[in-house]
This record gives sequence, C-alpha cells and structure tokens, in this order.
Amino acid sequence: MKSHHKIAIVGSGAAGMAAALFLERAGHEVTLFEKVADPRPVGAGVLLQPAGMFALKQLGVLDEFLNTGERINRLYGENENGKPVLNLVYEDMHKGCYGLGIHRGAIFNILLEQVIKSGIRYLTACPVDDFKKYGDGSVELFKGTESLGNFDAMVLSDGKNSKLRNKYQVKQKVHNYKWGALWAIVPDEAKDFRGELRQVYKSTKNIAGMLPIGAHPETGEPSVSLFWSIRDSRLRRWKNEELHKWQSEITGLFPELRPLINKIKDHNDILFASYSHITMNKWHDDNLLCIGDAGHAMSPQLGQGVSLGVYDAWIMANCLKEFCNIPEAFAEYSKRRKAHIRWMQFVSKTVSPMFQSSGSNWAPYRDAVFNAIHKFDFSYNLMIRTLSGVQRGVFRPAEPHLIDFVKTMPKN
Ligand SMILES: Cc1cc2nc3c(=O)[nH]c(=O)nc-3n(C[C@H](O)[C@H](O)[C@H](O)COP(=O)(O)OP(=O)(O)OC[C@H]3O[C@@H](n4cnc5c(N)ncnc54)[C@H](O)[C@@H]3O)c2cc1C
Repeated sequence: MKSHHKIAIVGSGAAGMAAALFLERAGHEVTLFEKVADPRPVGAGVLLQPAGMFALKQLGVLDEFLNTGERINRLYGENENGKPVLNLVYEDMHKGCYGLGIHRGAIFNILLEQVIKSGIRYLTACPVDDFKKYGDGSVELFKGTESLGNFDAMVLSDGKNSKLRNKYQVKQKVHNYKWGALWAIVPDEAKDFRGELRQVYKSTKNIAGMLPIGAHPETGEPSVSLFWSIRDSRLRRWKNEELHKWQSEITGLFPELRPLINKIKDHNDILFASYSHITMNKWHDDNLLCIGDAGHAMSPQLGQGVSLGVYDAWIMANCLKEFCNIPEAFAEYSKRRKAHIRWMQFVSKTVSPMFQSSGSNWAPYRDAVFNAIHKFDFSYNLMIRTLSGVQRGVFRPAEPHLIDFVKTMPKN
C-alpha cells in the first residue's frame, strides 16, 4: 500500500495552510484550493493559545509568530460596576506560560510564505463547488462543472460556511448565533495597551473588549483589536446611527478605550462577524475529512478557533504517518480529536449565552458562577487549562506533549 498520497485541501485559512504544510513535509502531493482570487492579510485580531503555538512550533514557524504578535498574560473581564468576573492568568498554570495576540493577516502572511516556499500547488480563484467519490477510493473535485482532478483524499478546511460539509455522510448540526461582533483594528503607537485581553460586560447585552495584537501586517505599527458584541438584528440600526453615538456607548462602558475608539472615523473602518456553532458526530467519511471551523466552529468567547484548526492539522498529518490506509488514518483522527473538540465546544456553548444573550438577564448568575470558579483551585485550574487549549474534559488528563510544551514555552 502506498504511503504517499495525492491530497486535495479545500480552503486556505490557518487550518488549511497548516494542513498543506504538514502533509507536504511528510511527502504527500498536496493541492491547496482557495476560492478567493487574491487572498490578502485581512481579518480581526485573534488570541492564540499554547495548544495552537505547540502545533506552530512543529511547523517551525512559532518564532515568526512570537516576533510579530503580542504576549498576553491574562484574560481579564469585569462587569459594568467594575466588579471582576474573569481573571485568568496563564502563569497560574505554569510559570512562563502565555497566550499570543496576533492579527489574522499576520497569521496568513507567515503561513502563505511557507506555502509558497514549499512549492505546494496553490490554486486561487478556484472554488471547489462539488465532489464525487468513486469505488476505487478516489475523489474528484469540481469547480462548477469543470473537473479539478482526482485525488486519494480531500480535506475540507473551508471555514464555518462550508458548502461541502453537508455532502459528508456524517450527522451534523449548525447553529447560527443571533449575536456577533463589530471589530476594528487601530494603531497603538505608544503601546499603551499591552499584555492582557480586557473586556467589560454590560449585563449580557454588550461586551466592549480589546486585545493587543503586536505588529500590523501591512503598516508594522503596534496595533490593538477592538470588539463590541451586537445582536445581528441591530446591525442595520447601528449602521444608520451617527458613529459618535456608538463611540460614546463604548467609552461609557470602558473609558480607557477612548484614545483608541476616537481613531475610528467611519463605519467602514468597522466590520461585523457572525458566529456559528457546528457539531459533527465524527469528522471523517472514508477518504474525506473536515478540519478547523468547517468541522467545529464555535463562538469566539474562548479564543480557540485558530489554535484548534492548526492542532487538527498536526494530528491529521500524524495519523497519516501512522496509517497508510487513508480511511483508517482519518477514522483515527476522529478518535484522537473527539475529547478535545467536544470539551471545547461544550464549554463554548455553555459559556457564550452568559456573555451574549437577550431575554432574561443572566449576568448576576454569571458573575456568581465565575466568582465561585475563581475561589476554588480545582475549578480555576480547569478554566485556565481550558483557556490554554490543553484541557479535554473535567477529569481527562491533557495530552502529555501539550503539558510539556506549556512547561517549556519559549521566552517572549
Ligand atoms: C470576531 C472574531 C474573533 C475571533 N477571535 C478568535 C480568537 O481570539 N482566537 C481564535 O483562535 N479564533 C478566533 N476566532 C475564530 C477564528 O477566526 C476561526 O476559528 C479561524 O479563523 C478558522 O480558521 P479556518 O482555517 O478553519 O477557516 P477560515 O479562516 O474561515 O478559512 C476558510 C478558507 O476557505 C476558503 N473557502 C471557503 N469555501 C471554499 C471553497 N468552496 N473552495 C475553496 N476555498 C474555499 C475561504 O475563502 C477561506 O480562505 C474569531 C472569529 C471571529 C469572527
């Protein structure tokens, strides 16, 4: 049985590019398809977790991420009365542990450079619209009615709005949240905002937040990602209102943001992102696999999406190293990823309405619950390990290589 395969990867976000790189390095013949004609470094700031940084280290690109991004020591959130709700300090898990704030465009640039260097066949302006599986174990991909070729396997990493996922013979569920976020990237030349992701909650109706993200991928200036949660039904009204009304609402809740918020001059400087929660019973269907947001999108409250996606890619490449038979390798992938993904999705689904929901006011219960969580070592440690992306369940131990990484993270 051959050990090197012809593999199609659909979608060149963080998960798809990491998958392409891991597979190419393992000797597979990889084609990476991207629907966008001219993919560019756009996007919000994201928080990378130690689990994601572990995978990036295996790719040999972690140093570049650390040189570009901003070290984050804690996640701090308080309610509108100034009472702390969340105070999760990475170093409480292990000395020297941290998260990394980084622009999504910087992630894109670093990974794209590696994809280009590696000579991976990267086809842009090439949406994969359909596929057909054949009895000989191959899969044919199509752009419209045009064949894009036959492959031994297809890895879907086409994000939360995947159009192909529902053709997998796998039970799946998509829940679109009624809430999303307005976000903007603004320069912070004086580096006044460093070291922490900070949020202020107005009951469960609004979150004003900021995340330092290091160098902007285009200007190189130190930057901060600002976000404001909003119900999607209110978006139209927000667009029709004067910008200063929204700016005052944010600074009323989070006054320290004034110098940053005032740099935003136009509604067009702000983008809206919606969230979905996608669950699949398993992520493989014979020689088809689904990774990243395509397979397990969730609300960004926990800051796990990119980290899970690049970690998925590492596990998938390992499974293909250990099992030459693709369906066996992909079945093993689902087995190995199950606990980790299920746990993160469970926490995300539980926690998200406590921060973003309408109707009854959950805020006093949320504040009481998180207050209790911070009081006990067991629950606090569980929260920190979950935030760091290493936890796989209440009592299930983290994978040893992740714990080793957390204990020996590079100084930054
Ligand atoms: C406001 C906001 C804040 C967030 N904060 C964080 C955070 O702090 N930390 C974190 O880790 N995550 C965060 N996330 C989530 C994170 O951005 C995603 O989880 C992550 O980017 C998903 O990566 P991906 O590679 O799976 O998919 P994507 O990045 O969505 O990439 C999918 C790619 O597939 C391409 N594509 C789609 N369809 C096709 C097709 N048919 N053919 C070919 N190509 C196709 C798309 O053009 C795209 O390039 C946040 C998300 C939002 C919206």
